[in-house]
Amino acid sequence: MKRLVSALGVSLFAIAACETGMIPVSAPDTAQTQVPQDGALVATQDQYKAAIKAAQPGDTLILANGIWTDFDLVVEGLGTADAPITVRAETPGEVILSGQSSLRLAGEHLVVSGLVFKDGSTPLNEVISFRKDSKTLANNSRVTQTVIENYSNPDRTQRDMWVVMYGRNNEFDHNHISGKLNSGPTMAVRLNGEESQQNSHHIHHNYFGPRPVFGSNGGETFRIGTSQYSLTQSNSLVENNFFDRCSGEVEIISNKSGGNTYRGNTFYESRGTLTLRHGNGTLVENNLFDGNGARYTGGVRVINAQQTIKNNYFKDLTGIRFSGALVVMNGVPDSPINRYHQVDEAMISGNTFDNVSSIELGEGSDAERSAVPINSSFQNNVVIGAGETTPFNLYDDLSGMAFSSNIAAQTPPDSLAYGFASGSLEAANGAGASGEFGVAREATGVSWYPKAPYGSPFEGGQTVNVQPGTNAIFDAAAAASAGDTLLLAPGTYTEAKTITLTKPLTIKAATSTKPLIQFERRNLFLLSGSGSLRLSGVEVTGELAPDNVGNSFLAATPRGGGGNHTLEISDSDFRDFTVNRSFAIVTAEKGTFFDKVAVSSSSFSDISGAAFKMDSETDDFGIYNIEHLLITDSQFSRVRGGAASIYRGGRDESTFGPLIEVETTSFEDIGARSGTTMKLHGVQNLRFYANTTIDSPPVEFIITTGKPNTIVEGNRVIGPENSAFLSTKDLR
Ligand code: CA
Repeated sequence: MKRLVSALGVSLFAIAACETGMIPVSAPDTAQTQVPQDGALVATQDQYKAAIKAAQPGDTLILANGIWTDFDLVVEGLGTADAPITVRAETPGEVILSGQSSLRLAGEHLVVSGLVFKDGSTPLNEVISFRKDSKTLANNSRVTQTVIENYSNPDRTQRDMWVVMYGRNNEFDHNHISGKLNSGPTMAVRLNGEESQQNSHHIHHNYFGPRPVFGSNGGETFRIGTSQYSLTQSNSLVENNFFDRCSGEVEIISNKSGGNTYRGNTFYESRGTLTLRHGNGTLVENNLFDGNGARYTGGVRVINAQQTIKNNYFKDLTGIRFSGALVVMNGVPDSPINRYHQVDEAMISGNTFDNVSSIELGEGSDAERSAVPINSSFQNNVVIGAGETTPFNLYDDLSGMAFSSNIAAQTPPDSLAYGFASGSLEAANGAGASGEFGVAREATGVSWYPKAPYGSPFEGGQTVNVQPGTNAIFDAAAAASAGDTLLLAPGTYTEAKTITLTKPLTIKAATSTKPLIQFERRNLFLLSGSGSLRLSGVEVTGELAPDNVGNSFLAATPRGGGGNHTLEISDSDFRDFTVNRSFAIVTAEKGTFFDKVAVSSSSFSDISGAAFKMDSETDDFGIYNIEHLLITDSQFSRVRGGAASIYRGGRDESTFGPLIEVETTSFEDIGARSGTTMKLHGVQNLRFYANTTIDSPPVEFIITTGKPNTIVEGNRVIGPENSAFLSTKDLR
């Protein structure tokens, strides 16, 4: 970090933050208004209803500590600027709203503080809403120091939003919002109605915790406006928020209105970009985009007119295309309201791009998006690419963008060279960002509720020794806690019951002798909720399974709540899954999602169905079942239904995945039933390296949307004659 410090002259506070591993940043805020301490204690929902009805300006209602189940909390009243009506927790963090609870505000000068929503989901369209109904809105009101954690609808396709701001002059600050899994933006500002426009909301010092990959459009963390009202001003100020691994889809933030300011926010390991999707005249300044090298991390995507991007720090961002560190899109001539308006008068100045993979200009250029950026400038920026060559990619005519006084470490493209001098972070000649950027994680959210940990969910638990026998794994798994490891002694494990996993668990051989696992039910494992499995060093047979259609070793099921699952298989052998004609190893049922399936040094032989069956989302809604399928150093033989089947339908450009990487793996006599070694429909990232097919048909790759990244190198085909490794069908 010394380089950053010396180059930018950041404050002592920022230096201290850097040294502890967190990034940069402006000082913690000290300006929050005090929530009143005296008031009337209410202990039941009926008491609350009576008390709020009678509340006068200046009154404070105190919710008693404890769990409030199915609480339809409506805070309605008319406070004044000097004497608001306050509803607060007796002790911040000890008033839990669970089950089917929600919060609605309606009226003037209301304050809500200190609540925790967890262990449930909202029965409404929102968890927290700044209105009671479409006619009764809240203005000049505030929600602060409130937590919403893992309050997802168990049906991941059910759409809701956790926080929606209506009305005007509302404040949302120091809240902790984390772990949304189901469809719909985590938070939105809505402008549908005159009384919610030119709203000047202030959204600051919030902690937006991890938003896992959603696997479809609708996974935004924050949205302001909609395309319908996008030419209306919102004038919201979004500052000093921390976006921690907010990776639901290609838009971290979808800005769809005018006149907003994004200032001093930190985006950490968040996939996608702050997208200026619709609306004009938005300012993006003093933000920190720190990808920390994580996949698909990006910065700002620019569309529309009068957008200003200045004095931001973009760091260690690996994203390309729609997820570049900076993406300036082409527009559609005379665009309809919901398509791409031309970039006009964009000002991009004084930013530092430090170790970024790409800056995409004229992105999206095609027959429809043919309107190139005009009247725009790119000046006084420092550009340090991650590779040996320039990070700039030009997709169209950039003569409508003036380049001046920039510094670049790598030689820029010829057509931009006039606007650059050679340099570095240390020799920036006054170009680039200066001052402070972003906000420290600790300065956001609340101090009394833990922020999401970093690191693997499989770690941090106990190790339990398990002896062979009947239902030994079932019993040990039932007794285990999240993150535990079951160590299997050599011998035979016969499981007569299906093991439903709702927590991350590791199951591995205690010695180098592979224990044998056999099972008598249709599935050995069912994953739901937070269920994930790491399996290592075992032999598994399907011989004892019943003759049922749809058997699999492991299935993800939507019953019990749909989380993002991880499955890791290493050094294991699967054989004899032939008892009926569609026996799979892993199945994703409709409405389930695997963040990752990773297989290494394993074998799969004599399987009647598809080994990895991830094709249940066939509605063509852009929803799919798996984000990453990674296979290395493995062998597949006699897999009749193909080694994998992945289906991502729909034609929207809202997701990075699915991604499939297969390396140094062999496929022999595959696809007797499916006619393909793998079927990959709508996959967006594809890498096949040094694999071998033997007497097997080609991998079938069907392109339906986007511009997939495809790397197919060093693969060998042994029989039948004239057979290809990959066959591509383009349906765009
Ligand atoms: Ca979106």
